[in-house]
Amino acid sequence: MAPAPCWWYFRVNGITPGETITIRLRGSTATVPKPGAPPQKPLASSWAMPAQATFSNDGQTWLHTEKGKRQDEWMIYTLKPESASVFVAWGPPYTPSTAAKFVRAMSEKSPHAKATELCRSRGDRAVPMLHVQEGERTKEQRFGVWVQARQHAWESGSSWVAQGFAEWLLGDGADAAWLRQHAEIFIVPIMDVDNTATGNGGKDAVPQDHNRDWSAQPHWNEIIAAQRMVSGLIEEGRMDVFLDLHNPSPDDPTFFYVLSPELLKEPMIGLRDRFVELAYARISKIKPLIPMSNKPKVTGANYHPLWRQISANWVSMNGNPHTVSVCLETIWNYPNSTTEGYRAVGSNLAAAVREYLAERPAKP
Ligand SMILES: [Zn+2]
Repeated sequence: MAPAPCWWYFRVNGITPGETITIRLRGSTATVPKPGAPPQKPLASSWAMPAQATFSNDGQTWLHTEKGKRQDEWMIYTLKPESASVFVAWGPPYTPSTAAKFVRAMSEKSPHAKATELCRSRGDRAVPMLHVQEGERTKEQRFGVWVQARQHAWESGSSWVAQGFAEWLLGDGADAAWLRQHAEIFIVPIMDVDNTATGNGGKDAVPQDHNRDWSAQPHWNEIIAAQRMVSGLIEEGRMDVFLDLHNPSPDDPTFFYVLSPELLKEPMIGLRDRFVELAYARISKIKPLIPMSNKPKVTGANYHPLWRQISANWVSMNGNPHTVSVCLETIWNYPNSTTEGYRAVGSNLAAAVREYLAERPAKP
């Protein structure tokens, strides 16, 4: 059972090319489990009904449909496929095999990238991870950068953001080379591979939402492994930038979530604000436009009872005094929320990490 039945992805066969097909979507009437609460109605159906659905003739290139039409509780999309079979989805899909293929392609393209695994999931699936560093600097002489997406399985756009980050990092630019030479970077395009593989939403998963599992005893293998590696960076005094990538509510723009400054000490607050400023300056200028709020949303004790176990909060509270740890929510219900748009967010985020770290004192 999907605690957050809000995304969908299927294939339509037997189409006469050129014919118009109609997809009618209605919210689920099922009740769903929620940790520590009685079964309840799922999220509002608006979470599952983007203004434009996504489709592909080949499973590779993803395009938006025309705007759907709302009719009572129905959302109706029409499209005219050019092939006998078409994939239709809530947003551009990004599956565990996409992640595995991507990290492998990057490692074949660049001598500085290594395709590896964060761990095996509880469902015994590989959790692909990309490890990037260039040159002779020792680990101690490198900034530590951790990028993870998809603690919530339905948020497929966040994996495309992670991919855009990695593509920029392994590109030909001088800034990318600087980052590879001065940092050690870990990128996990999909944390919750099991719920992604089975098509579950992942949010409010039972017994624990991945992004509320950063406790002393995590339930999920990915969190155990990520927490162990991040703790290693903290022990080495180089947990410099931690980025947790998500997609927000249907009406939200792109924005950062940060931990309330009352819960933090300097220099963490000022450094984090500086990083957010640099990232906003870039992402808000992406063309075509990706709407972004320059006001981060603040989380803390009032946000959720398990606020201490949210990954970016956990890293802020357990990190080094200079750790920058934030969550980036990238808009998904927008005409430019496409693979291109998401990857542009990722590349600009990576450029912001480079710019931010270049302002920091070099590691001795
Ligand atoms: Zn999320």
